[in-house]
Amino acid sequence: MNIYFTYDYEIYFGENHGTVEKCIIQPTNELIRISDTHDVKFVFFVDSGFIIKLNEYRQKFPQLEKDYTAITQQIKHLSDTGHDIQLHIHSHWEDSYFDGNKWIINTKRYKLADFSETEINDIVSRYKKVLTDITSKKIFAFRAGGWCIQPFSKFKKVFILNGITLDSSVFKNGKFYSNEYSYDFTNAPDKDIYKFDNDVLLEDEKGYFTEVPISGIKNSPLFFWKLFLLGRKNPYLHKPLGDGKAMPAPGYRKKLLTRFTNNPISVDGYNAQLLDNSLRKLMRNKKENMVIIGHPKALSRYSIQKIEAFVINNKMQHHFTTFEKQFLR
Ligand SMILES: [Zn+2]
Repeated sequence: MNIYFTYDYEIYFGENHGTVEKCIIQPTNELIRISDTHDVKFVFFVDSGFIIKLNEYRQKFPQLEKDYTAITQQIKHLSDTGHDIQLHIHSHWEDSYFDGNKWIINTKRYKLADFSETEINDIVSRYKKVLTDITSKKIFAFRAGGWCIQPFSKFKKVFILNGITLDSSVFKNGKFYSNEYSYDFTNAPDKDIYKFDNDVLLEDEKGYFTEVPISGIKNSPLFFWKLFLLGRKNPYLHKPLGDGKAMPAPGYRKKLLTRFTNNPISVDGYNAQLLDNSLRKLMRNKKENMVIIGHPKALSRYSIQKIEAFVINNKMQHHFTTFEKQFLR
């Protein structure tokens, strides 16, 4: 099995966005420690819109200069040491600003598809260029902010123009709608890799793009009861390391606690408990790629232990790898 740990590298977008130090730098340093100890590499989908904003405001506000330096140096270090830096777009940065004290995050246009085609072209090119400038490497893989990759036809041309050939936003049977979010992967092919062209859910052997979906899992409500209770009972082990709050997703928590839900295989907090089971299930189903999602901000002490144990237990038998190593043309 090719196993990809993919981390969305970003702060929080809720009422309290948290600090760069606690949401990004420190938890990522834990991942670097695991990587250095066990010689495995990870994929980082970097929210580059945030870097553009930091750059815009850093001369005026010394604390942002510090954030900017910390982030760009960490990304450069990750890239130089063989980790994969790829593009993650949260287009709501276009409408957000720093008020001298904190970021005022406006998520009214949360999805890239909320923008006009001309704006999308500009956003994708600029957001990608930031990462090329830092890493001097080819950026060719994409993950949509909040998984909002639909309708893909709106992005197709600009992706081709910018050399984006691989997407990893889909997870089988995922579905959520709210004012900000919109994704529906119900009809995604039941495959761990496929080609597509106009529509991320439509396999097309001659398609220009490759989809490497995030591996999916079906969770029982009981699992989330346990997750939320453990967070209260033992916050030291189970509280996220990031010090912010997620953007509200109305009805989402209730849904998790009351019915079976389809989710991506994740290492955020207690979700990491399911890594071993998920791997066994993928093997039973003859899959060859396991894509795991995580967010440095949402890792806990518990999940970091689990990631490390998973790497140790599976390193000999499986192949921990990156998109750059497997797919760079
Ligand atoms: Zn994100």
